[in-house]
Amino acid sequence: MVDTHCHLAHPEFKGREKEIVQKALDAGLYWLIIVGYDLKSSQDSLAINHYRFPIAVGIHPHDTANITNPDLELLKALANAEDVCAIGETGLDFYRFLSPRDKQIESFLFHLSLAQKKNLPVIVHSRGAEREVLSILQDFPNLKVVLHCFEGSKAELIEAIDRGYYIGVAGNVTYPRSIIRENLKYLPVDRMLLETDSPYLPPQPFRGKTNEPAYLPLIAEKVASFLNLPIEYIIETTSYNAENLFKRCL
Ligand SMILES: [Zn+2]
Repeated sequence: MVDTHCHLAHPEFKGREKEIVQKALDAGLYWLIIVGYDLKSSQDSLAINHYRFPIAVGIHPHDTANITNPDLELLKALANAEDVCAIGETGLDFYRFLSPRDKQIESFLFHLSLAQKKNLPVIVHSRGAEREVLSILQDFPNLKVVLHCFEGSKAELIEAIDRGYYIGVAGNVTYPRSIIRENLKYLPVDRMLLETDSPYLPPQPFRGKTNEPAYLPLIAEKVASFLNLPIEYIIETTSYNAENLFKRCL
């Protein structure tokens, strides 16, 4: 099983990284995709990666307010590191709006060009901005795209699938009123990725606590039971998808 989105360099895990990884391996995971969300966490993700897991480097839309050209140059340099297998997390967040719209879009475009240049997949966060995200992505038709923790409408989901994007399913699928729970039946398993987004979004029995990659099997179980498919099939197919997408590291 592969957790395709975890923030192992988050301060929440500081000093416990090895323990967290060991717990995940014990739970049946063999890969974590460690995702940076700003320059520091992107650098730290590379520094703590004693496991040669695939790394994504990027700046989350929340952190784009004060972004400078030297920051973007540093990001470009980080993308050359050997274990970097994806660009992200990037995207747009017009729900919490912690950074101005123009800055978010400027940063998103930079990430997309970088991913295109490096021929790497891009990991996209979108909240309250699915229309804008899909419209901007249209200008990058050859990119391999992951819409992580996707909560768009049924029509947006279908559009993303038609374009060949991968859809990350996170712990919110275990929440009673999540949109993805409703839309799961329209998502073919061969376009699906499993992710925890840890330390955020803990699955149902751990809500209010710190999430971690070892909880990924709970998400796989929920998906299997909603789709009425064997859990082994969900695990095998989503792991194959992840390997296929992040294979530059193999
Ligand atoms: Zn994230």
